[in-house]
Amino acid sequence: MRRALIAGNWKMNGAGDAAAALLQVVAKAEPGAADLVVCPPFTALSEAQRLLCGTFVQWGAQNVYPAPSGAYTGEISPAMLTALGCRWCICGHSERRQLLGETDGFVGQKVRAVLDAGMTPILCVGETAGERQDGRTASVVEREVEKGLTEVAADEAARLVIAYEPIWAIGAGQAATAEEAEEACGWLRECVFRLFGRAAADGVRILYGGSVGSGNIASFLAMPDIDGALIGGASLRADEFISIYNTAKA
Ligand code: PEP
Repeated sequence: MRRALIAGNWKMNGAGDAAAALLQVVAKAEPGAADLVVCPPFTALSEAQRLLCGTFVQWGAQNVYPAPSGAYTGEISPAMLTALGCRWCICGHSERRQLLGETDGFVGQKVRAVLDAGMTPILCVGETAGERQDGRTASVVEREVEKGLTEVAADEAARLVIAYEPIWAIGAGQAATAEEAEEACGWLRECVFRLFGRAAADGVRILYGGSVGSGNIASFLAMPDIDGALIGGASLRADEFISIYNTAKA
């Protein structure tokens, strides 16, 4: 039985006092049958550590550089994240792939570095609207998973998190249908099975992301291959985020 996971991706939001205000509300969530994770920007991670430490809520980063230290101006290492109490790290978000040119191979290096640091990667995959129209959704997301997990061993795969995030649904206000999301998440679980076997396929948590809110979360969670959600915009509205989590924990 996989435990539900609700993870918030704040993206480049939450400067100054706004981060503390949001974290203070999230810290009051009641524990239950779901995990709750927030991924603020790097600049708010120490605030997350201060305000969430001692609660059941966990925190993580939105990105990492896959090297232990060195001449990588502006980058953040895995050890810098774990020093701030991070247990999670988003890898390969489509905004980074599209805007910053992250390749499948580079994302794979990040996944490896995150695992080596003892954190859990949330590997994001998803197709564009054009790729979906061309019938290429399965091949795109399977390629992203295969390349993203190239350096992962079978016994590590069960504790990974994969987020299926169709690019056309992110920030669009129009989510995929639960059936569309389930179909893709099923392909991803099948892909993990092919790569790593049954135990990994049964253990890996697969999230849906893209315009999830309190009004549609239940429809995604009702699907057998969807274990939770990665939430962007709605994670910035504390009451909405907690409401999504409360549905998952119920
Ligand atoms: C995201 O960017 O990971 C995301 C799911 O965004 P939104 O919920 O705003 O669509």
